[in-house]
Amino acid sequence: MKNKYTIFLLYLCAGTILITCFIQIYDLSQYPFESHMDMGSEVYFHFRFSQTITLFLSIAGVSILFAREGINRELKLKAYTDVTGIKNKHACLEEMSILECNDNTLNIGFAIFDLNNLKKVNDFYGHEKGDELIQTFAHLLKLAADKKYFLGRFGGDEFVAIIQNCTEEIMEKYIQDVKQLADKYNKSASVLLSFASGYAISTRNHYYLMEELLKEADKKMYGNKKKMKYENMVENPQLSKILDDDRINSIGRDDLTGLLNYEAFLSVVKKVINLSLEDHDLAILCSDISNFRYINDTFGHKEGNNILRQFAQELKKQSFCLCASRIFSDNFSCLIDVSGMSTDEVTALIEKFNSHFSSIINNEYKGSRLILSSGIYFVPSKDETIDNMLNYANTARKYTKTSYQNILVYRDDIDQLEKKKASIINSFQTSLQNGEFKVYLQAKVRCSDKSICSAEALIRWQMKDGTFYYPDEFIPFLEQTGDIIDMDFYVYEQIFSYLHDRQLAQKVIIPISLNISRAHLIKPLVFLERITNLLGTYPIPTDLITFELTESTYIQDMQSAAFFIDELHKLNFKVSMDDFGSGYSSLKVLKNMPFDEIKFDKEFLLELTDENSRKILLQMMSLVKSLDKVIVCEGVENAMNVNFLEQSDCDIMQGYYYHRPVPMAELVY
Ligand code: C2E
Ligand code: CA
Ligand code: CA
Repeated sequence: MKNKYTIFLLYLCAGTILITCFIQIYDLSQYPFESHMDMGSEVYFHFRFSQTITLFLSIAGVSILFAREGINRELKLKAYTDVTGIKNKHACLEEMSILECNDNTLNIGFAIFDLNNLKKVNDFYGHEKGDELIQTFAHLLKLAADKKYFLGRFGGDEFVAIIQNCTEEIMEKYIQDVKQLADKYNKSASVLLSFASGYAISTRNHYYLMEELLKEADKKMYGNKKKMKYENMVENPQLSKILDDDRINSIGRDDLTGLLNYEAFLSVVKKVINLSLEDHDLAILCSDISNFRYINDTFGHKEGNNILRQFAQELKKQSFCLCASRIFSDNFSCLIDVSGMSTDEVTALIEKFNSHFSSIINNEYKGSRLILSSGIYFVPSKDETIDNMLNYANTARKYTKTSYQNILVYRDDIDQLEKKKASIINSFQTSLQNGEFKVYLQAKVRCSDKSICSAEALIRWQMKDGTFYYPDEFIPFLEQTGDIIDMDFYVYEQIFSYLHDRQLAQKVIIPISLNISRAHLIKPLVFLERITNLLGTYPIPTDLITFELTESTYIQDMQSAAFFIDELHKLNFKVSMDDFGSGYSSLKVLKNMPFDEIKFDKEFLLELTDENSRKILLQMMSLVKSLDKVIVCEGVENAMNVNFLEQSDCDIMQGYYYHRPVPMAELVY
């Protein structure tokens, strides 16, 4: 409307000028200068003057109109231009409506570009960097474009390119050119640029809505974005930049494997988690080679190092591994991308990798039987400290050693156990001094007449706050800290004093069995010295004491155990093999066992319903008997157990069927 009015005015002014000029020329040709004088100079003057004014006004009018048009155009251009120098959203919409009104809507190419991770760039590097990235991208779009292309910023980090007479080839080439320019830019950029794109080309010449084209391109762009996101995390340019920086940076590397060292790993993991946790599920993996000492001993340290290097290489190759570190020795940590995976899938993934690596090494080093143990911790939020996360993954790894599983995911129950462990470790010494540990005795009976013949000392922890712990709940932790040594000696002193008191009081005395933790085997001489001291305080007949050493402790280090047993024998103590059959005693081991007594594990009695188990147990007892050992069976819980044992070579029975463990003073015999 406004345009039509301006055009009308322009025509009017031009017409006036033309008419005035025509009158002037006609006038001059009809009336030469002299004849004008005849008209009377005043009339003539007025006539000429009005003609000149009309001409002047018309020219001024035309000039104003042209100037106004120029200013309008300038303003319009400004109003349609984005800060990036290309068109803004308003211009884009207008261009779309203009195109829509065209008779020919065929082959209009509509491309949408969307910058990846702009929000993160803003958060991570600040808004200035974000703005810079937008400007740069607009510039690249222009650089790659033909002059005829319409380029606009649709909003935030979304850009459009409209190409008329477009073909797929033209569009693909344009997008490819933009990509190439972005790649070139990224080579020297501090913040990397990455974008997703999608396009649609109209194939209908009739009534084709631009809106539809836009939607189609948008859909494709999102598809592209999603694909980029999940293809590989390292596709994330900011992330790959962090990791690249890190690859280049040789400081913070482990000399042996080339992986990050602990400090560098912490810092990279922190950055990556901050940047990626919204879009990705991440986890910390901690792995170690369970039998690395054996490998070192068998193949030598040089080959051991080679295996560590190979492990680092293999780990780095895995697409799930974002960055990895050798924490120390054969302990590795890795930040892994577990996007969209269930706990089971992650475990399966790590299991696959571990067995893949084991098979490489086992092929290369025949007889190595390398075993990897792994702990996994799923990163819950950015708020958790990296140190804690590593600790959790590492705790899960350590738990594999006692759980018969090679891979464990850190869960709440492990967390609960950890808390319990911490509380036990912290309160142990105070509890011991406060007399919260109580020694119980469980009587054992002769198989022949079921009379009490001896008893086993078993510890209980009755805390002041009412908490009651059975030994299985706290002994494993005390073994880890070494506190078990003090705890055992507390029991030994209580029993020595008990026997000594009864002896002085001339009461009946029965032999007592005392459990020995494996921790004592590390310093056997210290153990023997402390026992000798106790004997000095409580001079009791040493043959009243039977020390119980478990089968697994014995098998683990037979040489040390043999020395230890020998020393105990020298002091006239008796020694029993506890939990026999729960480990891997072979017939060869049986032959040389320096034990006076063999205590069959309670598991045996649980299998009595099976005919074959019964036969094996009977044969084993007969074999042990033939070696002149006393046979004790524990876990006697019912009449069926008793019936069976009465037919066997068993000498002594221990179990709830006869006597439960009771506080020391309550045992009557
Ligand atoms: P253990 O040496 O094998 O002790 C026998 C365990 O079997 C005891 O468990 C006892 O209460 C339990 N038991 C006895 N009769 C039956 C029965 O009929 N059925 C079943 N199912 N169990 C029966 P407790 O007292 O809980 O001790 C568990 C383990 O803790 C002991 O196994 C021993 O390895 C360790 N332990 C206990 N006291 C001490 C100690 O003073 N020092 C050390 N180093 N270890 C100890
Ligand atoms: Ca025992
Ligand atoms: Ca036992």
